[in-house]
Amino acid sequence: MEHGQQLLESLSQHFGFASFRPGQTQTISHLLAGHSSLAIFPTGSGKSLCYQFTALHLPHLTLVVSPLLALMQDQVAFLQGKGIAAATLDSSQSTEQSQAVMQGVRKGDIKILMVSVERFKNERFREFITGIKVSMLVVDEAHCISEWGHNFRPDYLKLPDYRRELNIPLVLLLTATATKKVKFDMAKRFDISPQHIVQTGFYRSNLDLSVCSVKEQDKLVQLVQLIRSQQGAGIVYVTLQQQAQQVAKQLQASGIKAEAYHAGLGDETRRRVQQQFMDNQIQVVVATIAFGMGVDKSDIRFVIHHDLPKSIENYSQEIGRAGRDGQPAYCTVLGNLDSVTTVENFVYGDTPERSGIEYVITQCLKEQTGGKWEVQELPLSKASNIRVLALKTLLVQLEIQGAITAKYAYYADFRLKFVTPQSKLLSRFDSTRQAFLNLIFS
Ligand code: ADP
Ligand code: MG
Repeated sequence: MEHGQQLLESLSQHFGFASFRPGQTQTISHLLAGHSSLAIFPTGSGKSLCYQFTALHLPHLTLVVSPLLALMQDQVAFLQGKGIAAATLDSSQSTEQSQAVMQGVRKGDIKILMVSVERFKNERFREFITGIKVSMLVVDEAHCISEWGHNFRPDYLKLPDYRRELNIPLVLLLTATATKKVKFDMAKRFDISPQHIVQTGFYRSNLDLSVCSVKEQDKLVQLVQLIRSQQGAGIVYVTLQQQAQQVAKQLQASGIKAEAYHAGLGDETRRRVQQQFMDNQIQVVVATIAFGMGVDKSDIRFVIHHDLPKSIENYSQEIGRAGRDGQPAYCTVLGNLDSVTTVENFVYGDTPERSGIEYVITQCLKEQTGGKWEVQELPLSKASNIRVLALKTLLVQLEIQGAITAKYAYYADFRLKFVTPQSKLLSRFDSTRQAFLNLIFS
């Protein structure tokens, strides 16, 4: 039987899925051929399956490092539901429970073991895992290993050493974050060669992206209107914790079932809010960046950015939580030029080369307009951040698509003027947006 056909049969037999999604076959084939791999797919597109499937075809244990207990528990529940022996070792377990798991791993009954990166600091765990043959190390949300990523976690830096110490032949890194710098940084740390990086497009046709230019004082009215026009559940992202509280209160006062979520709340409250959201007891979570990773609700119908997102990666991850079921979902940014400064103050990251910025801008405009637009560039004083620039450009672009014919994108380093002819660009919206997103993320 042909290799591809065999993979498909195994997929249907173990998981009940009829076909692979983009990128999955390629990643799995690299791994089965013995090559460590980095898979960069958008949120919700099925990264986990790459390790879940491969694990079944490897002789020994697959060890998965995951940043959140909730993520681990979801995935273990999914695997067990498919009759695949998977378990976690985590802090919520009693000694008896973790001993039973270790026993299962030793006997080879458990194929997939999920742990947090902190677990490696535990002497007992190190001793235990040293005696186990591990076929593959999987790092979920692998951008945590890069200082250039937006979610850097220093403990992740030790993973390449653990891998060497434990003699693990195969590594699989999974992430949705795909700036060039983060991508190559991750790959280098695990000796993954560029030809084994699998990256799929970021375009999600069911997400309707838009930008609403709203003055600060009009945002609440606009927000209430937007939410009332929606049937399902959604997330409203704000920048500051105190804003989350305030906006949630204002929405409640307008009769909308909303709760705040941010890192300043106790664990108990956060768990409760998340659960109520999952169970559709509340319609809206007003959240800071703290809400999201690990929220596996497939029917989120809208994501509204009350404030500009911190970076283009954050934006992409945050809107990526909408419409995972493939049904239409709406992503709206309530923005105004004044809010750019607030975002700037937040943004960290590298200072781009001027040529890099120019490249992004000129390429974007070329692709988007077929050369019909002019770019006028007025250098200003300070250095800037290309990601915010890119985001800003995206926002401006979207506004333009909303029929505004000329618009300025201010940026610290540049002032750009996009001059469009009166031609209608709306019909080309989808393809230009895709080109734009691909450009930024590739
Ligand atoms: P992410 O890329 O965000 O980690 P997940 O791995 O959580 O995405 O997958 C999202 C959903 O897609 C899960 O419910 C998963 O079971 C489902 N899925 C993954 N691969 C396939 C497939 N080939 N066919 C059908 N559903 C799939
Ligand atoms: Mg995932």
